[in-house]
Amino acid sequence: MAAFAAVRIIRLFIINRGTTMSSPASSPATKTPERSVFPAIFNGFRRRCPQCGEGALLTGYLKPVGSCSTCGEDFSKISADDGPAWATLLVLGHVVVPLMLYLGRDDTVPIWLAIGVLMLVMLVGVYFTLPRAKGVFIALIWATGATGEDFTANNHHVTADRQDSGQ
Ligand SMILES: [Zn+2]
Repeated sequence: MAAFAAVRIIRLFIINRGTTMSSPASSPATKTPERSVFPAIFNGFRRRCPQCGEGALLTGYLKPVGSCSTCGEDFSKISADDGPAWATLLVLGHVVVPLMLYLGRDDTVPIWLAIGVLMLVMLVGVYFTLPRAKGVFIALIWATGATGEDFTANNHHVTADRQDSGQ
């Protein structure tokens, strides 16, 4: 989990830094204020607003809110995409696969019991982990400003510049 978080954070920082470095004349709308990453991750894991820690980040099980009901922070431009599912599989795989190997090698455990235990662990694990992973991803994207909008907009800008200069 720690390794995954570190890799993802580094990746988000690189993406975010790349956009600000390569767009010197960036508009004020694309500028994101300094935000603390680790408190945001903590609030995201609790499925709370990464800014105030009070308002709910998700409605129902997985649907993200458009804005915080307490502080009004806008989350409408943040999309976690398949990141939470990837993180959930990464975490649960490290639990389920060793358990599967253990149960598969133990001849005293009947196959129906092994399958039942594995299914239960997987279902409960996904139910617990997936919304928290989604909260963490939304909080990370919020904290780093890596919504992807600047990145794609900047790429279009670069392409247009190249065409203008005849390349
Ligand atoms: Zn809030």
